[in-house]
Amino acid sequence: MSAPRPQHAALLQFEVKDDSLYIGGIPLARLAQRVGQTPFYVYERRAMTERVALLRKHLPTDVHLHYAMKANPMPAVVQHMAGLVDGIDVASGGELHVALDTGMDPARISFAGPGKSDAELSCAIAAGIVLNLESEGEMERAALIGQRLGIQPQVAVRVNPDFELKSSGMKMGGGPKQFGVDAERVPQMLRRIAELELDFHGFHIFSGSQNLKAAAIQEAHEKTLALAIRLAQDAPRAPRIVNIGGGFGIPYFPGEERLDLEAVGANLRRLLEEARPQLGQAQIVIELGRYLVGEAGAYVCRVVDRKESRGQVYLVADGGLHHHLSASGNFGQVIRKNYPVVIGTRVAGGPRETASVVGPLCTPLDLLADQMELGQAQAGDLVVLLQSGAYGRTASPAAFLSHPTAVEVLV
Ligand SMILES: *Cc1c(COP(=O)(O)O)cnc(C)c1O
Repeated sequence: MSAPRPQHAALLQFEVKDDSLYIGGIPLARLAQRVGQTPFYVYERRAMTERVALLRKHLPTDVHLHYAMKANPMPAVVQHMAGLVDGIDVASGGELHVALDTGMDPARISFAGPGKSDAELSCAIAAGIVLNLESEGEMERAALIGQRLGIQPQVAVRVNPDFELKSSGMKMGGGPKQFGVDAERVPQMLRRIAELELDFHGFHIFSGSQNLKAAAIQEAHEKTLALAIRLAQDAPRAPRIVNIGGGFGIPYFPGEERLDLEAVGANLRRLLEEARPQLGQAQIVIELGRYLVGEAGAYVCRVVDRKESRGQVYLVADGGLHHHLSASGNFGQVIRKNYPVVIGTRVAGGPRETASVVGPLCTPLDLLADQMELGQAQAGDLVVLLQSGAYGRTASPAAFLSHPTAVEVLV
């Protein structure tokens, strides 16, 4: 008889033996003993390494891969990624320091994000990383700070494109946006860059996030390259970098299909062959966060209490939305859906039941699993939320209700 398959088999990135999850080759219960506390986040090196290898296999070989570290800024994770990818994208001065500590060549670190302070600009210019300018005002401030420091800032222009990435979880381009400079104003900005003491590197065009549709990404790649070629005509020099964004999504919910990476890669290869004569030597960059680390991580908490209310089973855990806002459905989701959840030592076998997993916070929002089919669990059992390697711990309101924070381990 074959072993029972968990409900989330398609989303289970980790090994299962004797109905227990193994992460980094360690049985979950043993891992929890090793960590010494719940709740914790665990990230697996192997899964990240394999994910980068998969991208290398399908994307054109001359495309550079950057890690957008806001998805998971744990220094050990960023260090591991630094050994696998071609560059790191940061979005704050704090992230910049972590990225520099990895030893990554500063020329391969870029800094995007609105509202960069003078202090952040100053550190970035001194470090020699590439600033993705988010506005004309930021351009002027960067030039002044560069003058004051006696260092020429390395800059690219973040463009708010005149199109959207269709069917995206989060749209970050097209229409009015706080990100980047509207495409139609970029030519004028490029003329100003030529007048200022700024070293122009190229363009950053990021249109959206969490996209599972190859056709939408293919369309965005085509429009992005066309836009870069058009804008390059007004640039003070030929662009050395064209960052075409990312937005590759991962499946979280039942019915979601994996992104067809092969199709995206093949289409991009064709587009780049066509565009090469006009793009010259420009390095094409794809920047990804979630796609690189999201599936490599899990959030683990422990059942503290098991109770019933009017016929429904509640597993009350020591973890909740204060560590994992996204799994509670409150991180930009319109409709709450269950993340893939398993009982760590009863992944697919044993008696099953329908139960809800809630956290210790005094709010009905603190819901990690709403009436899911799970292995029957008691106090002391480990609850595991899969697909939790991105936008987990650092995207959650840890101070809310003053519970202890979650620790993180990389295995
Ligand atoms: C957040 C962000 C990313 C990463 O997005 P993912 O969906 O995690 O891949 C990449 N680039 C920019 C500019 C971002 O703001």
